[in-house]
Amino acid sequence: MNPSILNEKLNNLRTIAELIIRKGSLSRPDLARLTGLSPATVTNLTKELLKKRVIVEKGKLDSGLGRKAKLLEFNSRYGYFVNVNLDPSLPTSIYLSDLLGGVIEKEKKYITLKIIADNSEEALVSNIIDTIKKFIDSQDSVIRKKIIAIGISIPAVVNLDETIYSPLFKWYNIPLKASIENALSIPTFLENIARIKAIYEMNFIDRTVDKNVIYLALSPGIGMVNFYDSKLIKGKHSIAGEIGHMSLNILGEECYCGNKGCFELYCGESNIIKSAMALITENQSPILSDIVRNSPEDIDIKALFQAQQMGDMKVHKLLEEAGKYLGLALANVVNCFDPDRLIVSGDLIGESNLVYDCAVEEMRKRVFDILSRNIDIEKARLKSSDIVKAIANFILGKMLDDIATTK
Ligand SMILES: [Zn+2]
Repeated sequence: MNPSILNEKLNNLRTIAELIIRKGSLSRPDLARLTGLSPATVTNLTKELLKKRVIVEKGKLDSGLGRKAKLLEFNSRYGYFVNVNLDPSLPTSIYLSDLLGGVIEKEKKYITLKIIADNSEEALVSNIIDTIKKFIDSQDSVIRKKIIAIGISIPAVVNLDETIYSPLFKWYNIPLKASIENALSIPTFLENIARIKAIYEMNFIDRTVDKNVIYLALSPGIGMVNFYDSKLIKGKHSIAGEIGHMSLNILGEECYCGNKGCFELYCGESNIIKSAMALITENQSPILSDIVRNSPEDIDIKALFQAQQMGDMKVHKLLEEAGKYLGLALANVVNCFDPDRLIVSGDLIGESNLVYDCAVEEMRKRVFDILSRNIDIEKARLKSSDIVKAIANFILGKMLDDIATTK
């Protein structure tokens, strides 16, 4: 086949598979309408995807106009992914999932991520590899043979050469991807956790309308992801979006980064929890103390909102202040990027409207007027407990060419 025709065909196969994944299920007439391809071309391409078992026929759509159109769905059990969530404040979670992130098995293990005297880079990397290997070895042999990729989310910078940089963990360009692929011979994909979540959120956006999107994550650290013309902007060194250390208060407290008054100090969820713990230690929050009496180490954002709703004024003030700083940061972001849409994620805005409402009010007060007339701001759809769906979606995006065009 002529190379340019072959290329066009591969592109169309990918487009069809991607549309079916994003929409859940589609009929052939839907696909022809959405892609602009002729019904005959859609029939041929879907026939090929059906033969490869990339898609399957499921039920029929009654259009009310006589003949019912068969619905096509992505075959989520075409293969399996191993998804790993490395998070400094939680145990490492490792999941076996189908290709859409449906969890089949999961395991948690404490892995010390920080490189210290008795946790060298070599020890850390081999610990991560051993954990993944043992998890894979424990799976049923039929499933094990169908594991087609590993995906890892990490709150760190993933450099353009896919090494990892994190001053917090003292990781200085660790080649984790290459090490895992060498040891396990399974394609491995790594990305910063905020980007993984943001890529997932883009599935719910009408990209013909919202081309310029800013996604802001408040947990585990603060990260911003910028889509310009629907493309993720990584920057020259892949560090675009490290907004957590933007100064919001020149007189603020010192941050671990060496700066003062950083955004993350006021709105990063782990910092807010630290401030709440200080309130408990200083006996200033009897209601919150009561709520977390049995396990103060498990204090989370949900417990803070519970205390606030029960009348804890100190916690209320802490959350209100977080909302105001968030609004200030959002105004800066809007003035810098003038996005079509802003998406904010994190339990801090997902568990209650208090912080979110304060932030939107503050943002509208501060944003450059002409822009304030039309800012679409919304809460992210992904719950923190559903991170595996986002990791699987990220791996699938990376592998879709291979999956759609495989022999
Ligand atoms: Zn900082």
